[in-house]
Amino acid sequence: MYDLRIDNAILHDGLGGAGRRGSIAVEAGRIAALGEVSGTARETIDAGGLAVSPGIIDTHTHYDAQITWDPLASPSSALGVTTVIMGNCGFTIAPCRAQDRDLVMRNLTHVEGMSLDALRAGIRWEFESFPEYLDLLERQGVVPNVACFVGHSSVRTYVLGAGAASRPADAGEIAQMRAIVVEAMQAGACGFSTTTSRQHNGESGIPMPSRLADQAEMSALTSCLADLGRGTLMITKAEATRVGWIEDLAKAAGRPFIVAALLHNSAVPEATFEDLRDIHAARARGQRLYGAVACTPLVFEFSMREPYIFEGLESWAPAMAVHDDGQRSALYADPAFRQGVIDETARPARRLFNGQWEYMRVSVAGRESGQALEGQTLAALGAARGVHPLHALLDLALEEGLDTVFTVALMNTDEEAVGRMLSDEASLVSLSDAGAHLTFLCDAGFGLHFLGHWVRDRGLMSLEEGIRRLTSHPADLFGISDRGRLVAGAWADLLMFDPAAVGRGPARRVRDLPGGATRLTGDARGVHGVWINGERILESDGTLRQPARPGKVLRRFDA
Ligand SMILES: [Zn+2]
Repeated sequence: MYDLRIDNAILHDGLGGAGRRGSIAVEAGRIAALGEVSGTARETIDAGGLAVSPGIIDTHTHYDAQITWDPLASPSSALGVTTVIMGNCGFTIAPCRAQDRDLVMRNLTHVEGMSLDALRAGIRWEFESFPEYLDLLERQGVVPNVACFVGHSSVRTYVLGAGAASRPADAGEIAQMRAIVVEAMQAGACGFSTTTSRQHNGESGIPMPSRLADQAEMSALTSCLADLGRGTLMITKAEATRVGWIEDLAKAAGRPFIVAALLHNSAVPEATFEDLRDIHAARARGQRLYGAVACTPLVFEFSMREPYIFEGLESWAPAMAVHDDGQRSALYADPAFRQGVIDETARPARRLFNGQWEYMRVSVAGRESGQALEGQTLAALGAARGVHPLHALLDLALEEGLDTVFTVALMNTDEEAVGRMLSDEASLVSLSDAGAHLTFLCDAGFGLHFLGHWVRDRGLMSLEEGIRRLTSHPADLFGISDRGRLVAGAWADLLMFDPAAVGRGPARRVRDLPGGATRLTGDARGVHGVWINGERILESDGTLRQPARPGKVLRRFDA
C-alpha cells in the first residue's frame, strides 16, 4: 500500500519531457510509481487535470539567519519552493565565535536589509562551527530541504575578527581559512560563496569582509574544492570583476562556478550580454560557468533612511558613515554632497543606480500633505519643481522627516533583453534573494512568476522546458542527484499547479519578524499543493499544514 496517490494529473518530469496524463504514487518519501499506477494508497487525490511537477529549487536565498527561528523559510515554501540553497554571496552566520555575533549581525542587517532587532531577537546561536550549524538545522527541523554554502565573509571574520573588513590576510590566516572551508565541505556544505560587489557593505559602509581578499586568498579558498572533488562555487561579482578572472579560478578548482548577478541594466544594456558571451567562451574551453539571471524586475521599496540603491556610488560614501536622522538630514541638505551624486549618476556605469528617475516613484507620502504626490515619478516631480530629480528626492524626504517611502524598478525593466538572458543556455534562473532585502523587496515567488509570466504569457519557452529550468537544471548543477525530477526512486518533492493561473501576487507588508519588525512577502497564484519528501505542506486552498517539518539538510552533492 502506497502512502499517497495523485491521479488524473498531467505529469511533468522536470527533465524536459512532454507532460503526460497519469498517476504518481509515493511511498516512504520517495516516488514509487508513475504513469499507469496500480495499487491502493492511504490517501488518494484527484488532481483533476492539474500539472504535477518537481518542486522548485531556489539556488539563491539568504535564509541562513531566518531559518533558525522560521523553519518554514517563509514565504518560499508556500510559493512552490521545495529546496533552498542558502549562504549565497559569502554571507552565512556560521562559522561564528560568540564574540563576533554582533559584528556578523551588523553586517547582515545592512547588506541584506534585515533589522538588527529582528536578528538579535531571532537567531538561535546554538553553534560555533559550520558543522554545528548544519546539526542545529537538523535538530530543529526544516520545512523545505536546505543546502548551504560556506560563506567567505563568515570564514574571514572567524579568522581575522574585526580586521576582516579592513586588511588582507597573511599566509597563516589563509591556511586557517582554507582548513575551515575544507571542514565545512566535509560536513556537507554544497560549495563556497563569495562577493566582490561594491554594493555589499556592512554597517557604516564598511566593505563586506570578502571584498578585502587578495588573489592568494581567493585562489586558496576556491581551489581547495579541487582536492575534495566536490562542490559548487558562486560569486556575486563587482561590476569591474572580469569573467576571465573567475574562469581562471574555476579552472584551478575544476568545479562549476555560478556568476551572479546578471541583472540587465538599461543604462549599460550590453553589459550582461558581454558577461554571457565571456561565460560561453569559458564553457567552450571546458569550464562549467553559469550566469545567474533573474526573471523579475528588481523593484526596491525604500526610505532615505536606508537608501540601499545609492550605496554603490562612490559619492554616497559620506551618507553611509552617518548614524542618525540629524546627521543624515544635514548631509542631504549639503549642496556639495548633492552635486557629487548628480555628477556621478550622469556617468552610466555597471552599477545598480544610474539615474533612472523615470522609474522611481513616490510610493507612500511621509505626511498627509504629500499624498497628492503618491505615484508620481521623481522625473516628473523634478520637472514640476524645476530642479534636478535628486534635489526633488532629497527635498521631499527632508520636508517629510525622511518618512517618505519610494519605489524604484532598477534592473531587468527591459523585457526583451531579460527574455534573451533567460533563454540563454549558459544561464541559471535564479537570484530570488529570498530571505534578504526584506525591507524593500520580495522575489521568493520567482519560480511561479517564471512559469506564469515568461512561459505562459510571453511564450518564451515550452512549459516542459520552463519547469526543467527550475528543477532538474539547478539540481544537476549542484549535484543533487535524486531531486528536481519525477522518476521512480527520487524524493517526492512535488508541486501541483494550474498552468493557466500560476503566478505570484503583489508584494505586501507584514509585521511578523522577531521583535515586531516588518518585511515584504507575497502569495502564490494557481498553486494547489506542495509536498516535500512525500509530506504535504500546502493544502489546495493555500493554507500551510503545520507543524510538519519534512525537509532534509542536504549534505551530499555528486556533481
Ligand atoms: Zn545574495
